[in-house]
Amino acid sequence: MTHTELTTARNFVGGEWAGSRSDKTFDRHNPAHLDEHVVTAPDSTSADVEEAVGHVSENYHAWADTAPEVRADVLIRAADILAQRADDIAEELVREEGKTLAEARMETRRTPQNLRYYAGESLRLTGSTYPTADGSWVLTSRSPVGVVAAITPWNFPLNIPSRKLGPALAAGNGVVFKPSEVTPLSGQRLVEALVEAGVPGGALALVHGHGEVGRAMVSDPRVAAVTFTGSTAVGEAIHSAVSVSVRCQLEMGGKNAFVVLEDADLDKAADIIAKGAFGLSGQACTGTSRVVVHESVADCVLDRVLERAQAHVVGDGLVAGTTMGPLANRAQWDKYQEFLQDRSGARLETPLREQKLTDGYYARPAIFTSVGPTDRLAQEEIFGPVLSFLTVGSYDEAVDVVNGTPYGLSAGIATRDMGRAMQFSRDVEAGVVKVNQATTGMAMNAPFGGVKMSSTQTHKEQAGDTMMHFYTTDKTIYI
Ligand code: NAD
Repeated sequence: MTHTELTTARNFVGGEWAGSRSDKTFDRHNPAHLDEHVVTAPDSTSADVEEAVGHVSENYHAWADTAPEVRADVLIRAADILAQRADDIAEELVREEGKTLAEARMETRRTPQNLRYYAGESLRLTGSTYPTADGSWVLTSRSPVGVVAAITPWNFPLNIPSRKLGPALAAGNGVVFKPSEVTPLSGQRLVEALVEAGVPGGALALVHGHGEVGRAMVSDPRVAAVTFTGSTAVGEAIHSAVSVSVRCQLEMGGKNAFVVLEDADLDKAADIIAKGAFGLSGQACTGTSRVVVHESVADCVLDRVLERAQAHVVGDGLVAGTTMGPLANRAQWDKYQEFLQDRSGARLETPLREQKLTDGYYARPAIFTSVGPTDRLAQEEIFGPVLSFLTVGSYDEAVDVVNGTPYGLSAGIATRDMGRAMQFSRDVEAGVVKVNQATTGMAMNAPFGGVKMSSTQTHKEQAGDTMMHFYTTDKTIYI
């Protein structure tokens, strides 16, 4: 089992590694050094998707009929392969996406753990029995859904796909996977390991490309389920494109708030805020982008967070000492710049440094005060290291501000009063509530998902044991 350097990614369709039928390709460069080529990938079209979905829909049944313990063994083998290559893949991930090496290593360690977890779940696809008056049997059984279309973003290009491909394959489904066009190499590494471990070509296809590929996947009538993680705008487009008969899981954007009450440990709160806001250069769906702070402690919290923000070393994630890598692409950098320029009355507390695109998409932490709850800064997902401070006079006002956006992914609170914390967990409109912890960072074995425009209201089982319900169909059998 060796890791070989790769500069050309391939589609995996019908058990063969090949380019797009169109012969078109696209290039990915290192966001830390824009002239450094990382990988060339097939720029696939709807014809490639048609072939991939056709092949999987005709052939995945053999995988569905494989004993669950055999499917589990295959996933465990894939996990072993990825674990053995974790350090090499982490370096590639830094060059492809722009994380720091420490962040990339966390991801390359978590990805095999996900596969092992879902391997175990393949043996726990249990049903129930129900009492009847006449002594007949009523029971439920779980079967695979069919062909699953998996569409993923670039910010966790191994971890998120492993949380879709792992459970889908564990349950015996066929999968057509489209990684983000920003991170084709990472997506390829995951599929290579699965194929090498024994997932058959009839059960798994990989199609690289842009939005056209995703659009063709979600509108193919042979696809039974769509699992998507990405922006709310694309999630909404998918929601209107899929047929009502298609099971759809949409995990989308956030505008996550962290509340600081008067009684909080302010040093600890500042640590938590800085971690949630600037980890992954602010490019986490659960990243903290609003601090909602009681007016009596606002200045103290701001000073402490500023101190932590200024201490960040922004640079190439492979260079020792770097604590924040570059933004992933030009679109991210442009958005960051746009919010720095268009402040509409807000005050920038961090020094504005001239940013030139000479080398990489580097962005320093930016902190704004005098932000109103309805300002763009407090409403729109920026997905970068931009943090807005909003001051409130009471707990009730804090809850209104936190809930006053269309999103509802993750929310946090700093307080020593556990009664207040429990009250907050009931009052807040969010799928994840953190008490004295950063809004980022999730347990791999716990359910994860948002509310409002952050997730579809149904099937928001995005991780943990409840995830398997999305990938299985219950049948009720009467005997
Ligand atoms: P994106 O929505 O631009 O792209 C996501 C994927 O969708 C990509 O593979 C893309 O090619 C594909 N796509 C684009 N247009 C499509 C279409 N019309 N139909 C089908 N597929 C299409 O998102 P991104 O920029 O890759 O990722 C950043 C976003 O992802 C942020 O909004 C972030 O909050 C969100 N995100 C959410 C979570 C979560 O768990 N809630 C996790 C990570 C990222």
